[in-house]
Amino acid sequence: QGAFIHTDFENIVKENDLVLVYISKTNIRPVVLHKNGRLNTKYGTFLHSEIIGKKYGSQIGKFLNSNQVNRGKRHIKKNKEEEDANNDEEEDEKKFGFIHVLKPTPELWTLSLPHRTQIVYTFDSSYITERLQINSLSNVIEAGTGSGSLSHQFSRSCGKLFTYEFHEVRKQQAELEFQQHGLLYQDYLDGKTDDKNTANIVINHRDVCKNGFLIDQVENIDADCVFLDLPAPWEAIPNLNKPGVMNQHKQVRVCCFSPCFEQVDKTVEALEANGWGNIEMVEIQGKNFEGRKRMVKTIDDAIKVLCDQKERRNMGTINYRNYKKAKQDLEEGENNDGHDLKRLKTNSTPADEKFNPFGKGMRVKEGDEKYEWSNVCKIESEIKSHTSYLTFATKIFKISRQE
Ligand code: SAM
Repeated sequence: QGAFIHTDFENIVKENDLVLVYISKTNIRPVVLHKNGRLNTKYGTFLHSEIIGKKYGSQIGKFLNSNQVNRGKRHIKKNKEEEDANNDEEEDEKKFGFIHVLKPTPELWTLSLPHRTQIVYTFDSSYITERLQINSLSNVIEAGTGSGSLSHQFSRSCGKLFTYEFHEVRKQQAELEFQQHGLLYQDYLDGKTDDKNTANIVINHRDVCKNGFLIDQVENIDADCVFLDLPAPWEAIPNLNKPGVMNQHKQVRVCCFSPCFEQVDKTVEALEANGWGNIEMVEIQGKNFEGRKRMVKTIDDAIKVLCDQKERRNMGTINYRNYKKAKQDLEEGENNDGHDLKRLKTNSTPADEKFNPFGKGMRVKEGDEKYEWSNVCKIESEIKSHTSYLTFATKIFKISRQE
């Protein structure tokens, strides 16, 4: 399908495209579109034909029947966080559900891919890509491939990616995904794609600790960047010295990704023993920043609200909730001998006539033009990353002016 964003960008969704359907923040689903296909979501079924022909980024919505609304409500209870993205609309229009159709990117793929292992997330992968100085001329070594999260990121930025996985089934699954996404170098060699820049992944079934990095298909890998996400990177590091593995004529960079400090210690020892320098360990702690609107509230209005409340308290005005209940009973003709109803009939100031400049007690949509807003930045309280420590190092294999 070759649908992954790499170099060019087709803006209209076509049949057979792989799209990422954004249902909510924590529910992004990869789907290959067929003209008779159907997509079942908590908002009901969307026909693929409703999506084909739309622009990438489009919202596709539908009015829900009561079953779907109830399912939606149950879902809200079950997973509040998941609703965040669609929350505002759901508040205002309870019966409207929607999805967004998005072009796959490595970042979105990381959020939606089928997990077969722990994966590297975008907070780390963006930093790693920058620190390893990966560019379109780089040959990159990655071990192990795992679920292929980082491989997608590397593939977009590098010249060629040599990725290694010793678990055979995992290797096959990753290979299939690379193929479906148009990223497999073998497909370029077989003439199945002519986009050499996109089809740049060479995947190998191999234990890099025991058998090193050299492969039959390629005489020299000449890598300038190495990323090791292995339980024992120190066992693989000596294999980088074998002729043909690393580029001998420029500064090369390595990054090892390890969850425990003891692993970092052993890795640093192996790097030093094998002539690597500039060793540095980094820990990424990522937070999302979100652009929001906050209602502007003037002190004068706030003071007026307080004065109004005090005045009504002095007048003995009924509390708003009791007022509403009593009013409802009155409208429905139900007997209500209670205190509130008597008050409602006799009271001079109904609670909803109070001074209300901030829409308090009403559903106000963020950005509603009736109110004044300022743009603010909201930061997630929770730290989303730290999965591992990153150990970086550099090396020049042949330091000689004659070369
Ligand atoms: N970075 C990957 C991602 O973002 O999806 C995840 C890698 S996963 C944590 C580690 C992988 O390394 C596992 O799939 C494991 O099978 C593989 N592995 C472990 N030791 C290996 C070795 N000696 N040679 C090759 N692969 C190895």
